[in-house]
Amino acid sequence: MACNVYRNGTGLHKGAMRPLAASNSSNVKSSSFKSRIPPSSNHSPGSAPLRRSKSAGGSDGVPGRVRVAVRLRPRNAEESVADADFADCVELQPELKRLKLRKNNWDSETYEFDEVLTEFASQKRVYEVVAKPVVESVLDGYNGTVMAYGQTGTGKTFTLGRLGEEDTSARGIMVRSMEEILANVSPETDSVSVSYLQLYMETIQDLLDPANDNISIVEDPKTGDVSLPGATHVEIRDEQDFMELLRRGEAHRIAANTKLNTESSRSHAILMVHVKRSVLGAEDVIPSETDKSSHFAKPPKPLVRKSKLVLVDLAGSERVHKSGSEGHMLEEAKSINLSLSALGKCINALAENSAHVPVRDSKLTRLLRDSFGGTARTSLIVTIGPSPRHRGETTSTILFGQRAMKVENMLRIKEEFDYKSLSRKLEIQLDKLIAENERQQKVFDDEVERINLEALNRVSEVERNFADALEKERLKYQMEYMESVKNLEEKMIENQQKHGCDGFMKDKCNGEGPVSSIVEDVAEVKKLLEKEIHMRKEAEDEVNKLKSQLGQCPDSGEGGGSEILKLQKALADEVRQKKKLEEEMIILRSQMLQLTFEADQMRRCLGRNGSANAYGGLDSPMSQVRDSLNGHKTPVAALFEQVGLQKILALLESEDANVRIHAVKVVANLAAEEANQERIVEAGGLTSLLMLLRSYEDENIGRVVAGAIANLAMNETNQELIMIQGGINLLSVTASRAEDPQSLRMVAGAIANLCGNDKLQTKLRSEGGIKALLGMARCGHPDVLSQVARGIANFAKCESRASTNGIKSGRSVLINDGALPWIVQNANNDSSPIRRHIELALCHLAQHEVNAKDMISGGALWELVRISRDCSREDIRSLARRTLNLSPIFRAEMRRLRIEV
Ligand code: ADP
Ligand code: MG
Repeated sequence: MACNVYRNGTGLHKGAMRPLAASNSSNVKSSSFKSRIPPSSNHSPGSAPLRRSKSAGGSDGVPGRVRVAVRLRPRNAEESVADADFADCVELQPELKRLKLRKNNWDSETYEFDEVLTEFASQKRVYEVVAKPVVESVLDGYNGTVMAYGQTGTGKTFTLGRLGEEDTSARGIMVRSMEEILANVSPETDSVSVSYLQLYMETIQDLLDPANDNISIVEDPKTGDVSLPGATHVEIRDEQDFMELLRRGEAHRIAANTKLNTESSRSHAILMVHVKRSVLGAEDVIPSETDKSSHFAKPPKPLVRKSKLVLVDLAGSERVHKSGSEGHMLEEAKSINLSLSALGKCINALAENSAHVPVRDSKLTRLLRDSFGGTARTSLIVTIGPSPRHRGETTSTILFGQRAMKVENMLRIKEEFDYKSLSRKLEIQLDKLIAENERQQKVFDDEVERINLEALNRVSEVERNFADALEKERLKYQMEYMESVKNLEEKMIENQQKHGCDGFMKDKCNGEGPVSSIVEDVAEVKKLLEKEIHMRKEAEDEVNKLKSQLGQCPDSGEGGGSEILKLQKALADEVRQKKKLEEEMIILRSQMLQLTFEADQMRRCLGRNGSANAYGGLDSPMSQVRDSLNGHKTPVAALFEQVGLQKILALLESEDANVRIHAVKVVANLAAEEANQERIVEAGGLTSLLMLLRSYEDENIGRVVAGAIANLAMNETNQELIMIQGGINLLSVTASRAEDPQSLRMVAGAIANLCGNDKLQTKLRSEGGIKALLGMARCGHPDVLSQVARGIANFAKCESRASTNGIKSGRSVLINDGALPWIVQNANNDSSPIRRHIELALCHLAQHEVNAKDMISGGALWELVRISRDCSREDIRSLARRTLNLSPIFRAEMRRLRIEV
């Protein structure tokens, strides 16, 4: 039926055309009807090599001859009566798969079939031998045909179409086939649909939709595939669906036949079952341009196998031979004959391997082109009746079956790419790739951000390192500067010792030695100051630049945002830098102020000492410093103004210890000037200094702070403030902690000043001031002893005054606190300042009778006597004499000892 490509005519089967002699062994090589695919074993031995062609799925075809079974209907009631005296026209030998057709009582012809089914064959057995192998092929992806051919009333419909609703054993091939198909397909991946048609008078009618009564056949010119796009396809999910569909089809068939005034034996009923099954193909077959770039495993090739099971209940075969003599049946007979005779012709042509197969002659042959000589596995069941009255018709049916047995098909699976499922899978794949891409993009963005941040961190680290380096440089200069200040101080002390300068602050004034060093220091500080001013200017310029850049920056967009952040960070750095620079400026200016102040002091000191040369030498560079600072002469006060007291005092609380100590020094020096003292105290300087003393971090600060407090303590009001703010106690504690003579000298100086205030007498004692003062004498350094002596003298003077005024009574606190032995011991000290203070103290103590006895027992009388005789100062000498003479106790003792003054 198909083109020659599929045909496999062999000479071998030609013998089957001839009836077999009863004694002859069969020429027909029948293989098992049940044989399954892969049918390499199906290949008929001796058949010519097959020409194979590739299917869409690429699988080679396998040969598969049309299988033919014959089924004999049992006698029906009418035959049982009518033919009662006659033997059946056929005799079956099912075990030999042979059928004997009796010509008459003495002659018969034997035919061999693939299967011979007696009148007792059950429907189940018929299904299994005729249809089941075909159905299984269909499930494997091959097309399949099961067709019933025979005279009307021989059981075609019985064999194929019985529904067996009441008796399931009566179910025909249609129902059983569907049952098997449904049992084997997967509802998730596979689908089964059905169309049910009737071919009558070369017209195809849709039994599922009666209105659809002229369906056309469409052939794919490339593949030769036949389809009926106009036919209704009904999806079948279960057997009930199918039974319902068959009932519906049958009802429509009856209706259509009534309408056309015909009967079912005149039409062909065609049931088409379309099976679509998903199978996974080999991966490498998928052509994909993205293969190379894909990170994922390729999805398996989604293939779909489309197969078709065609079940054909043909019109009665007697129609082939009916002539047009029956009048009104003429047209109909012609049409039915056309299809049936065309089928016979095609099968003949195929059986004889003829060059021309008249497939196109009828609609039936066009529809069945795949079933005969095509790619389908085909089973034909020929039904016959037993009645000898229909021997002719039975013979022609048997011969039709015999010819059909010679038709060789080339079975092929039709596989197609399942584009739908492929596209679905690719979509999923694509989604995965998109998600993966997004994830990687995020990772990339994060990485970029991290690198940016790292870069920023590095930049700021470099900036920090740079700032640190600057800071180190600055500290180095500062250390150098401090070193020179220290040298200066040492030289001043030396000088003081040389010149015997008196007074607390005046100690700093020494000779001409350090003038040149001060000048150098001033010049150095000036340089530093210039450098700092320059740096500050640069920093300010940079800040302005950044500000203007920041102004220009667009305030939208990511780049702008990060740029702004960067600039803000840089700006903050710059502000910090600026603050630091300002701090440094203040320190440097303070240092400058201090140096200038020291230079002033020195000049004054030198002036007093008549060292005109040194003064002249100093004046000139100092003038230069002043000139260079403000462009005109700047006195100390102006420098002080320029820096601002508040700023200097604020530095007392700086975190930097160096800054603090410098600030304290500046404040201490400023405090030495009476004019500044009030302002310092007003601005809270005293409180800050006392706080520093309280924290007493190290002796250096303690020393300078004590010096500053000592300077402030020269003023009576300040003395009281110091007392009120707990200064006495603080100084006492400091005195007990300090070891360095210079520190002790400062603390002793401060307490000594306080000792000179009448109002502080009680507090000084109660807060341990006197004991602290005497304790400091342990040091033995003349500078310290001098201050201790001064304090005792001051205290004794106030005490004496209080006693005279009647405010105080009783023995001297100094005596009570055990000062007398030290006083007596140092009364004749080599150092004149110490000696002089003690002499005065003794005179004050001696003025009150309450102290006399203790003084006598302590040996003070002898010292007073010595003072009254030897003191270099006339006023003290006469004071001592007068005191001794006024005291009856001293006088009595002197008489006793025969001493005269
Ligand atoms: P056809 O379709 O070939 O015209 P049917 O299938 O209609 O023949 O059969 C005609 C009659 O014979 C029906 O009543 C049917 O039940 C009966 N018949 C056919 N084959 C058999 C069988 N093998 N056993 C019993 N009765 C049968
Ligand atoms: Mg029928």
